[in-house]
Amino acid sequence: MSRHLTGRAAAPGVALAPAAVIRPPTVSDDGETGTPDEERARLDDALQRAAEQLEELAGHVNQELGADEAEIFEAHGAFAKDPELADRAHKAVVEGHSAAEAVTSAFESFRALLEASGSDYLAARAQDLDDVRDRVLALLSGGTLEVQAPSERSVIVAHELSPSQTATIPRAVIAALVTETGSPTSHAAILARSLGVPAVVGATGIVDLASDGVELAVDGHEGVLIVDPDDEQRDQVQQRLDEDARRREELESLRELPGATADGHRIELAANIGAEQDLADAVDAGAEGSGLVRTEFLYLDRAAAPDIDEQADFVSRVLRTFPDHRVVVRTLDVGADKPLPFVDREEEPNPALGLRGIRLSLARPSLFRDQLRALLAARADVGEQGGRLAIMFPLVSVPDELIEARRHLVEVAAEQDHDLHGLEIGVMVETPAAALAADRLASHCDFLSIGTNDLLQYLFAADRLLASVSELADACDPIVLRLLGDVAAAAHAHDAWVGVCGEAASDPTTAVALVGLGADELSMTRAALPEVKAALRGVTLTQCRDALSAALAQTDAEHARDVLASRPS
Ligand code: PEP
Ligand code: MG
Repeated sequence: MSRHLTGRAAAPGVALAPAAVIRPPTVSDDGETGTPDEERARLDDALQRAAEQLEELAGHVNQELGADEAEIFEAHGAFAKDPELADRAHKAVVEGHSAAEAVTSAFESFRALLEASGSDYLAARAQDLDDVRDRVLALLSGGTLEVQAPSERSVIVAHELSPSQTATIPRAVIAALVTETGSPTSHAAILARSLGVPAVVGATGIVDLASDGVELAVDGHEGVLIVDPDDEQRDQVQQRLDEDARRREELESLRELPGATADGHRIELAANIGAEQDLADAVDAGAEGSGLVRTEFLYLDRAAAPDIDEQADFVSRVLRTFPDHRVVVRTLDVGADKPLPFVDREEEPNPALGLRGIRLSLARPSLFRDQLRALLAARADVGEQGGRLAIMFPLVSVPDELIEARRHLVEVAAEQDHDLHGLEIGVMVETPAAALAADRLASHCDFLSIGTNDLLQYLFAADRLLASVSELADACDPIVLRLLGDVAAAAHAHDAWVGVCGEAASDPTTAVALVGLGADELSMTRAALPEVKAALRGVTLTQCRDALSAALAQTDAEHARDVLASRPS
């Protein structure tokens, strides 16, 4: 008999496949406790082997899924190697505890520190600690972390899926992911979205209800599960699957078409690039170049800055990937939540308001100038064979920063005998000050690109990493739309083009408003590109403008969003 269960929708889509229930890792009894010296040796050996395994896993995930996903395991490896954690465990061993007890208590005290930090982000990392602890305990006890992955395509069901468990399940067998615990931002949900399969989390009781091989229907839009569906339910799910497949085909047929409204008004639809692995996906999605190449990944997690050749090689590869389009490379945007290990800086009580973005580059000119040298070297290297390089400065808040950044660029170009003719320079509009000074900024550059992620955080004073306040910051809020309209008008008055490269550009509903207010380019996560393209091809420019006017007349984001979503299609 079929059974219904409801959880939280975590990744869209529908699936119908047999369940494969993943059991938690086994840790067998640790046996007798040896002398402190013996326990310490076992402990150090287990920590070292855990770190090695995690490094290997990070490499494997980097190849399969990309640098962003691999970061989780690099962070796990760093936990296993943390001297402070080892110190705490050593102390427990000296007090007569077994290696396993020492590991458990050391991780526990670390966990308490993270949870007490008052930061949602760090508290979430506390869960990652359990994953590393289980690995070390398994190594100590001869237990196993191995996942019994199914051999055929299945709905993966688990009480909880740790990042390392999810990473070891072959992608090809995952039809959907369902967990009893977790939130839409948990690793399992992120993985499902990047694989394009549905996910439901918080489905309490599913592990008991679904046994291996029992058919499971998963609705990742509504968060609904049906265990052992009857014929009628199977038919309904099949219908949804057919609709999804048709939609994918429709979108595929638009792939080669340029971004435009129904009446032919051009909007460049580009992809954001955050790592080498994004390039192929961006081309696949039909991206018209990139409106934001985040160069940070080249610098993070390393002891010294990458040299000029390494940076130039990467930029050359990006330019060659989009020979017919523009490629906007953003200069280093670190600081705040992305500190650089090799750059000393003073303690900042509010890092989001500290030395980040262009501020850091101007404070460390040699680092900045090396990056500019690399960009110009790449431009010279690819010449006509690659896309048109544009350079963009992040987190500018006053025109002087742009003027100063340009001065460095001109000096570096002179040093290299590089002709800057045809190279577009732009700034990101990410601070309220930049938005209000858009006219002055635009008079010194070729384009403005609106970074809604940071702009919204600073406008609403709502930390972008904090789920509890994130709802305050909505790009469809009429005050935001009004401000963005002013930015676009100021840019156009100075013959500068205007783009949007924050997450707001990835949302088809918001994209209609952005075109209505004058955006010339939208750059987004590549997965969003086909739906945004379809939405824009379904409306005329006048309809975009009318929808925007109606949204501007609303009193809050919710109503504005409703008005925009009810556009003709
Ligand atoms: C933004 O702030 O909108 C943006 C695109 O930059 P990032 O998300 O890298 O801060
Ligand atoms: Mg930003």
